[in-house]
Formats: sequence, structure tokens, C-alpha cells
Amino acid sequence: MDRILVTGGAGFIGSQYVRALLTDDSPPATVTVLDGLTYAGRLDNLAPVATHPSFRFVQGDICDAPLVDTLVAEHEQIVHFAAESHVDRAIADGTAFARTNVLGTQTLLEATARRHGDAAVFVHVSTDEVYGSVPTGSSSERDLLDPSSPYSATKAASDLLALAYHRTHGVDVRVTRCANNYGPYQHPEKFIARCITNLLDGGDVPLYGDGLNVRDWLHVADHARALDLVRTKGAAGEIYNIGGGTELPNREIAERLIALCGRGRIHRVADRPGHDRRYSVDCSKIAGLLGFVPRHDFDTGLEQTVRWYAGHRAWWAPPATGKSAG
Ligand code: NAD
Repeated sequence: MDRILVTGGAGFIGSQYVRALLTDDSPPATVTVLDGLTYAGRLDNLAPVATHPSFRFVQGDICDAPLVDTLVAEHEQIVHFAAESHVDRAIADGTAFARTNVLGTQTLLEATARRHGDAAVFVHVSTDEVYGSVPTGSSSERDLLDPSSPYSATKAASDLLALAYHRTHGVDVRVTRCANNYGPYQHPEKFIARCITNLLDGGDVPLYGDGLNVRDWLHVADHARALDLVRTKGAAGEIYNIGGGTELPNREIAERLIALCGRGRIHRVADRPGHDRRYSVDCSKIAGLLGFVPRHDFDTGLEQTVRWYAGHRAWWAPPATGKSAG
């Protein structure tokens, strides 16, 4: 039975991954979540698996070397989600981003190299934002990294650290670079979740600049499935782009959500500094080698996501923190 350590498993994507591992038809696994429960992490995201006999939750910091060392020693597979993840917060103050995303990742890699050498699988969950803005075409896994924000720069640093621990110490590192995710349990500070919760609350949709920044969108359940393919079938030292094939300008997303909610207006706000115009990843590698194809059609997924937020007001309404524009 696989013993899997999932960092950041109480967040948006990590909790989807853990719920799927323990409730879908996946092969049996024991899963330990290590999560610091920052503003972005919530234990109730893991409520559906909380009493599962193969599940354990440890509240702790990925920068806590003795704790990380103990947990890494007990698991031969690590799926690393934990990060500071919101670009607007990184623009306001990048300190926590450098600490968690860079030092935290290095702490995990160091423990993995020391405890397991090349005998552990380490899936590092990176992002398409490490490539920077892509005016035309799509980024391939061989492209140079050119991050624009303190968030993406710290993700690029951790992505390169992970690859370096493969080359230097032989750790079986597999890096994924995924496009923007949407779906249930996403913090209301993120674009789609913020648009929906604002509209459901009777408000409008703030849009940066001209709203023509293009993102590729992937349902969070498809991302989780792609990550498990990488964990179980990927190869050491390899990088896998993951995308949904749904490239849309932010303005169009906002208009679709206004239509789905049946009310509201766009209101434009000053553009975000360093705002990348377009991200686009070439996903032929993961499709060809691991057979990954997204299953969620965007229109259906978006409608289901609106319905989830409408039906889970108690999940998002009380804290409703960090509703910045972006
Ligand atoms: P999130 O902000 O929802 O969750 C992050 C989780 O990490 C939270 O549960 C938080 O409590 C935990 N955490 C933060 N700092 C920690 C620390 N020092 N120690 C332990 N736990 C800590 O993020 P998300 O959207 O679920 O993203 C997960 C990962 O996927 C991140 O690495 C992110 O860069 C990457 N990613 C996200 C997207 C996206 O669209 N959301 C796209 C591509 C890649």
C-alpha cells in the first residue's frame, strides 16, 4: 500500500486530491496531510474523509525541519501542494511566499534526499505562471522560466530546486506545471470564486485593466487526476505541463458568470502591476505519455461551480476574507 504525504492538503487543490484518493476507485493508500492551516487551509475541506481509517491529519509548517524529517521518513511518496498561492498577496508582501514556497520546499526536498535517496517519489506541484507571459504559441516543458510576480518567482525557485534535488541527489522528482484551476472549495479571493461569491452577494465583478488577460482553465478534479497519473506513472526528473485547453479572456469569464447568476455588472479597476497578459501550456507530453485528457467540459464545470457556491454559502460567506480584485 502506498504511504503518501500530502502537503497543503487542506487547501483548494490538495483537498480535492485527498478526497479523490480516499473516495474514488483509486488503489488503496494511506494518506497523511501536513498543513499549517493558514487563512487558505480549512479542515472542513477534508470532512468527507476525516474518519477514513487510512487518513491522518498533522497540523504543522513545512519549514519545521524536525517535523518534516519525521513525516518524510514515514512516507515514500510525497505530493507537495503547500504554498502561498495568491498573486495579489505576493504583490502586497512577498515575505511569506519566499519562506513557504522556497524554504519550505527545500526543507521537504532535503529530508527526502536524506531519508530516502532515490527511493521516494516527490511530486512537486508547480504552475504555468513560471513561464511568464506568452504572447503567442504555448510553453513547452523545455522553455526557459521567466516569472513576473513574486508569487511566480518563488514557484519558479521551488520548481528549479526540486529538479536540482533530482540531478544532485537522485530524488525521484516529478514536476507539474498546471494552468488556472476552478471548481468547488476555492477560496473567494481567487478570480472565478470571487466573481461568483460577489454576484451571489448582490455585488459586481471587479476586473483588472481591460479584462483581456487570457488564462487557460482546468477543473480542479481534472488537475487532481493528472497529478495522480504523474505520481503513479510519471518518470523521475520529468516535467509535465497540465492544461484544460480552454483559453479565455477574464472579461469573457466575468460575462459568462453574470449570465449564469442572472445579475450583476463588470466594474473595471486599475491593472495589477506585472500582470501577465497570457498563459498557455503545450500539454502534448502528458497526453501522449500518460494519456491525460481533461474530462470536465468548461461550460458544464462553470455552471456546476456556480451551483456549488450557491449551495454552500456557509462555507464562503462568514470569513469572506481577502476579496481583492484580480
Ligand atoms: P491554496 O492557497 O488553496 O492552499 C494552500 C494550502 O497550503 C493551504 O491549505 C495552506 O494552509 C497550506 N500552507 C500554506 N503555507 C504552509 C506552510 N508553511 N506549511 C504547511 N502548509 C501550508 O492553494 P491551491 O490553489 O490549492 O494551490 C495548491 C498548489 O497548486 C500550490 O503550490 C499552487 O502554487 C499550485 N497551483 C495552483 C493553481 C491554481 O489555479 N490554484 C494552478 C497551478 C498550480
